[in-house]
Amino acid sequence: MVSTRILVLGGGVGGLVASNLLKEKLAAEAKVTLIERKKVFQFPPSYSWLMLGLRKPEQVQKDLGSLKKKGIDVVTDEVTSIDLGEKHVKMTKRYLPYDYLIIVLGAEYVAETIPGLSQYAHHIYDLESTLRFKDTISKFSGGTIAIGIARTPFKCPAAPYEVALLLDDYFTRKGMRVKVKLEFFTPEGMPLPAAGPEIGGKVSELLKSRKIEYHSKVKLTEVGQNSLRFEDGSTIAYDLLFCVPPHSAPKPVIDAGLTDQTGWIPADPETLETKHKGVYAVGDVASISTPNGYVPYLPKAGVFAHGQAEVVANNIAFEVKGKGKAKVWDGHGSCFLEVGQGKSAFVKGIFTAKPRPEIEFHMPNRIWHMQKVLFEKYWMRHWF
Ligand SMILES: Cc1cc2nc3c(=O)[nH]c(=O)nc-3n(C[C@H](O)[C@H](O)[C@H](O)COP(=O)(O)OP(=O)(O)OC[C@H]3O[C@@H](n4cnc5c(N)ncnc54)[C@H](O)[C@@H]3O)c2cc1C
Repeated sequence: MVSTRILVLGGGVGGLVASNLLKEKLAAEAKVTLIERKKVFQFPPSYSWLMLGLRKPEQVQKDLGSLKKKGIDVVTDEVTSIDLGEKHVKMTKRYLPYDYLIIVLGAEYVAETIPGLSQYAHHIYDLESTLRFKDTISKFSGGTIAIGIARTPFKCPAAPYEVALLLDDYFTRKGMRVKVKLEFFTPEGMPLPAAGPEIGGKVSELLKSRKIEYHSKVKLTEVGQNSLRFEDGSTIAYDLLFCVPPHSAPKPVIDAGLTDQTGWIPADPETLETKHKGVYAVGDVASISTPNGYVPYLPKAGVFAHGQAEVVANNIAFEVKGKGKAKVWDGHGSCFLEVGQGKSAFVKGIFTAKPRPEIEFHMPNRIWHMQKVLFEKYWMRHWF
């Protein structure tokens, strides 16, 4: 029997879930190949702890090679192009054909699109940058720290707010807070806009209670050595800069003509199938429209990638085996917002609910912080 060939492009959050579940469900019926440029899986929700020295790099990474013992074919290589007509994917030295294709390539960072940003800004959007930022803050002797967001959409709407609140706590514990001014800038109208104005207001209150100045609806256009310039002509002077870099879809999906005017791959909100049969876009690389939402498209988050990957794996297995039941993705998402002092807030809900998203905000406490620790443990063990 010729087995079904399933290619999973990207070994991050969604790719890990999809390849595991597909192999579990289709042990004999399918060859599941996971293509990822890195040898390791890295867990970004722990980067804010890495930034504070509360985690070591080895605690937030896992060897993807261990998936081979489950029967997943792990290929460490760069995807260079996707041929939707011929149904194959090219890597640096070879190509692989597919019957089903799951594109979970995440987002690239394009800091170079804003003059001065790559030169002067720190961020925690990859592991190496997080370690650099950790060293820098440990040596910071006082002044203004500007913390902000260059462009939307970006991964994890809560992450930069978490950075601001954790830095407040970090410098307070060091007895240095009086010497550190924290200023937040963003093109958003409010924090976490996809969660609605009530929740945005609660996060704004948290920032205010920590004396973090908030500049909303400002679009960064230029970064100088000690100053930021915005589209409306306003400026912010800084001594240390943290800025979420602009995001873009990876080149192979743009070159394949998969993206639309959003810059991302449009996919069916319930099945994640693209306009090409048997080709799915999952996680950050997908653009999911939310006609009833507070914002027109779903934000980018690992929890969405996880839920979407489960649905896609289920539905491919259903199609291949003809057994079971097709599922639809329900738009469920949740997210921790660490605030320091061993506490975390928690946001949870159905982001695609009708007539409006149904989202709850839980005020910071120690229990949510412990839940985040358990969430990390689950991720670092369950899928390997
Ligand atoms: C600091 C931070 C904190 C976060 N906290 C949370 C949180 O608490 N909760 C939450 O839900 N989300 C959180 N996120 C967001 C979450 O990490 C992402 O939304 C999630 O990883 C998206 O999953 P994905 O599978 O779509 O993409 P990724 O996990 O980014 O995986 C994409 C993979 O594709 C690989 N790849 C890309 N291009 C190629 C190529 N050409 N060839 C081969 N491989 C390639 C990449 O190396 C990567 O491993 C956080 C993100 C950051 C940065």
